[in-house]
Amino acid sequence: MNRPIYVTKPFLPPLEEYTESLRKIWGSGILTNGGPFHDAFEASLAKHLGVEHVSLVCNATIGLILALQALRIEGEVITTPYTFVATAHSLLWTNNTPVFVDIDPVTLNLDPCQIEAAITPHTRAILPVHCYGNPCAVEQIQEIADNYNLRVIYDAAHAFGVEHRGQSVLKLGDVSVLSFHATKMFNTFEGGAIISPDAKTKRRIDKLKNFGFVSETVVAASGINGKMSEVSAAMGLLQLDYADHVRQRRQAVDARYRQGLEGLAGIEFLHYHADTTANFAYFPIFVGDDAPIDRDNLHDRLRQRNIFTRRYFYPIVPDLQIYKRFEATVGNQLSVARNKANQVLCLPIYPDLGDDEQDAIIANIRKAF
Ligand SMILES: *Cc1c(COP(=O)(O)O)cnc(C)c1O
Repeated sequence: MNRPIYVTKPFLPPLEEYTESLRKIWGSGILTNGGPFHDAFEASLAKHLGVEHVSLVCNATIGLILALQALRIEGEVITTPYTFVATAHSLLWTNNTPVFVDIDPVTLNLDPCQIEAAITPHTRAILPVHCYGNPCAVEQIQEIADNYNLRVIYDAAHAFGVEHRGQSVLKLGDVSVLSFHATKMFNTFEGGAIISPDAKTKRRIDKLKNFGFVSETVVAASGINGKMSEVSAAMGLLQLDYADHVRQRRQAVDARYRQGLEGLAGIEFLHYHADTTANFAYFPIFVGDDAPIDRDNLHDRLRQRNIFTRRYFYPIVPDLQIYKRFEATVGNQLSVARNKANQVLCLPIYPDLGDDEQDAIIANIRKAF
């Protein structure tokens, strides 16, 4: 390819529409602290997602920290090794101990059958990730949480617009956290949102994201600055108008890959459950031992042709030096997560990806095989 193709390219609404919003911000002189765009986006987002209680935040990492703080989680938290580092980082920032449990080889999400073995008297919560926007085993996780009196905080960074049995996945568990980072399927430059189950939890989060201020002179907790600015909120409000278009384009790219790469020996795709309304946030392929080329060779070969795929998520979090000390708490071997991390390659997927560009990616993979 003459021009490099990256794994993603942020969707941007027409610039004229955004400058119109900027003009309003310049007019109001309100840049942050819950301005008009913040409030309008928060309300419209809730409606769009089919949820009630939304708190906008500056990014999902701070969002996870706020969620853990709001639910007063301190102890051991069961989480997945197959995720972006921010999931585990949020636990260290809140004085929690991550306990890594292996994933299911089909869903790539926390294996519900292995959670109970990792529960100790110190376990306070489960922090699963809807990896690639594919919903976790939500019913089984909730049952375990209910039996052991644990809270469930979903890292829903990938799960914008995803539904399980016709309902937003963001309604499940105690709290869910979305990311609106530039590389995610819905972006506000940087940003995120916390979905609470009730108004009381939302109010607590809204105070914590503003340093813990309850009133001008009273500070109830050591909160943080997690607020979303007006420029990000204005972007989010505009992006909502294009969210359906973005999803449809992504779905078309997903379908073209599945068709184009069909029949290659040793390649596997992510399969969505019949109960899932997917968002097509990622297109991971898994290059198995029976493939004629290994994952890293395929990655390098595509890179030589200006096609930049990503190994999300390699290495798994507990294999990072700073997380090695948590390996001792692991009862199982995390072999599924490690194996998948060695096989995964996320292919470029975004609304502007041209058919010709995608066909070139497919042709290059076929040739490599
Ligand atoms: C991107 C991502 C995050 C962090 O999101 P930010 O908004 O960049 O802080 C957290 N968890 C997962 C699974 C992610 O992919």
